[in-house]
Amino acid sequence: MDKNIWDVAIIGGGGAGLTAGLYASRANLKTCLFEKMSSGGQIALTDTVENYPGFPEGITGPEISAKMEEQAKKYGTEFILEEVAKLEEKNSQFIIRTSSGKEYFSKTIILASGASFRRMGVPGEREFTGRGVSYCATCDGAFFKNKAIAVVGGGDSALQEGIFLTRFATQVHVIHRRDKLRASPILQTRALHHPKIDFIWNAVVESVSGSGKVENLKLKDVNTNQTRDFKTDGVFVFIGHDPETGYIGDFVKLDEKKYVIADPVTMETSRKGVFAAGEIRTGAVKQLVTACGEGCAAALQAQYYLENLEQH
Ligand SMILES: Cc1cc2nc3c(=O)[nH]c(=O)nc-3n(C[C@H](O)[C@H](O)[C@H](O)COP(=O)(O)OP(=O)(O)OC[C@H]3O[C@@H](n4cnc5c(N)ncnc54)[C@H](O)[C@@H]3O)c2cc1C
Repeated sequence: MDKNIWDVAIIGGGGAGLTAGLYASRANLKTCLFEKMSSGGQIALTDTVENYPGFPEGITGPEISAKMEEQAKKYGTEFILEEVAKLEEKNSQFIIRTSSGKEYFSKTIILASGASFRRMGVPGEREFTGRGVSYCATCDGAFFKNKAIAVVGGGDSALQEGIFLTRFATQVHVIHRRDKLRASPILQTRALHHPKIDFIWNAVVESVSGSGKVENLKLKDVNTNQTRDFKTDGVFVFIGHDPETGYIGDFVKLDEKKYVIADPVTMETSRKGVFAAGEIRTGAVKQLVTACGEGCAAALQAQYYLENLEQH
């Protein structure tokens, strides 16, 4: 039976994957892109993107995601809306197996499955997800109009999303486990001077509780170990990310945190013909513009690799 063999198979439709799709298909390579949810990845979750060049007024996450998808499709990238479950190599060909049991074949692979938000891992968190516990301000912020809410974290996402949430909430309490923020200086200044934002320093959430919806957090002071109840209508968690590499296993080398080890210039992984781009890669800068840059580099490298294969 004739097998459909792709030149480039991209796993993940975030900024990295969509840019790789655009470059690979525009270079006339037969390109497919696997996405398990919807295009855009993490950036689709945010309200305004102010630091992507070319949009001086800012652009919403969903809007830039839709535009990137449209541009990749325009040049021929085929979207396969499936979750990749396993990768294999047989007879110098890659096999991509999906959760639904289908298999696809490709000459190269670009790993661009990014990362996903981290949970606090405390009692009540899962139970109250969607009932006051959220990881997406854009998705859920409007449900908290005129309510007081908590934000957990001290990095860029926590402050950026915390500031966004002041559009709805009466007060945003930022709970941070240290006495200093990790966020960029401009966001720190905005948050520290914001009339609707205050900070609870050196504190961690020990549990989430309520009747039917979030009403209370148990907070622990990390210096004194003392706990106290903290009334709130909701809690938004922005405490970091984990790489989406479960399907990779030992197909390529990963670091101790399970990020893919790849050359930051050539995007090559430990396996020939397999490249990695964006937040999935160890040491990657976690920004949309860099994810897109790496997607471009990975697609060009895949193109050179294929040209080399043909010559030999
Ligand atoms: C709330 C928030 C706000 C942000 N704001 C900004 C900002 O203002 N400016 C900025 O530059 N950056 C911002 N970022 C960071 C930016 O979104 C990321 O750096 C960027 O999206 C990384 O792109 P990526 O393509 O590497 O991965 P991701 O965006 O994580 O995309 C990976 C994609 O792969 C898919 N996937 C995962 N596993 C599989 C699988 N097994 N099979 C198929 N598909 C799979 C996922 O569904 C996802 O769509 C923000 C991030 C968040 C969470």
